[in-house]
Amino acid sequence: MRPEQKKSPSDRKPIPVTRPFLPPLAEFIPYLERIWESRWVTNGGPQHQELERALCRYLNVPFISLFNNGTNALLTALQALDLPEGSEVVTTPFSFVATAHAIKWNRLTPVFSDVEPTHGNLDPATIEAAITPRTRAILPVHVYGNPCDTAAIADIAERHDLKVLYDAAHLFGVTRPARPPLRDGDLSVLSFHATKVFGTFEGGAIVCSSEAMKKRIDSLKNFGFTGETTVAEVGMNGKMNEVQAAFGLLALTHIDEALARRRAVAERYTAALAGIPGIGIVRPSVGVTPAWPYFPITVEAAHLGKSRDDLFEEFKRHDILPRRYFYPLISSFAPYRDLPSAAPEKLPVAARFAEQVLCLPIFPDITGEEIERTITVIKAT
Ligand SMILES: *Cc1c(COP(=O)(O)O)cnc(C)c1O
Repeated sequence: MRPEQKKSPSDRKPIPVTRPFLPPLAEFIPYLERIWESRWVTNGGPQHQELERALCRYLNVPFISLFNNGTNALLTALQALDLPEGSEVVTTPFSFVATAHAIKWNRLTPVFSDVEPTHGNLDPATIEAAITPRTRAILPVHVYGNPCDTAAIADIAERHDLKVLYDAAHLFGVTRPARPPLRDGDLSVLSFHATKVFGTFEGGAIVCSSEAMKKRIDSLKNFGFTGETTVAEVGMNGKMNEVQAAFGLLALTHIDEALARRRAVAERYTAALAGIPGIGIVRPSVGVTPAWPYFPITVEAAHLGKSRDDLFEEFKRHDILPRRYFYPLISSFAPYRDLPSAAPEKLPVAARFAEQVLCLPIFPDITGEEIERTITVIKAT
């Protein structure tokens, strides 16, 4: 037998960047019983319909179509915009790779343009510069749940006759006194992946503004069926099942508590980290009530004496697993790097963000001890 080892940091439970919020199992049973009783397990069952209504109310949006994941919702949303094959779609390199994949899957060409330095959202000035006669749409991302400059983007879209699809995967729970950012653009897409603020294990949704569009999307996510014996177009299987929807209904009863806990964690991090030279906090937009899907900080090596990657390694040595969202840039991945718009020198702000950002652990049931351990690693550098 090996001699008893001294308790080292690695004996402690690792702290992930996020952890799905699971209410007590007993609370889920009644929802499952309803499914077992009705034997309606997918294809727009009663809890699916109930979740669509409940989300419209909670998010203050007119129409929602649920999906089995956010990526399929993105694919279908772009399809529903009816852009001619080969059209260009201006988008951001600073996002999760699914954003650009949705463009390619639809046989459209992504055109990357640079982000602004405050929140890492598409910079309206660079969008305008990326527009060509082939541009038909803009696909911005509300990165970290900070709403894009939707007014400036709407203005560009109107002047150039472009569609706007927002990747709103991070936007759940973010509110502002004016109109909800989910109502901006032609369509918005949410993700309900387990790691997001509101999760259905896997899941997603498209938010739209007309009943006709909702009907079209409902058909597109169901193989293109428009009636029992009619198929109008090439649709996918994007349907959310009844177990996912049931969990969504349960999760919604806990969402305000989950958001309040995220805000409390963010407050503690902000108080502890503000003022440390070389550490920046990506703060929420003014006038917005944030949901804190992530807690992104930026590391300036020249001031901290340590690069972001040094700090990342230091965290790992302490069994803390922050994530470098979003590094590498989408534009550097094999399917995209040969595009003219993917040249790193054309995307300097996004490149700097990708090099400096680190998302700290944040989730509703993170403990005070886990938060303090995380802060200590940064303070000790
Ligand atoms: C999570 C995420 C997606 C994909 O959503 P899935 O539900 O995992 O398919 C798309 N875009 C962004 C920005 C995301 O963070």
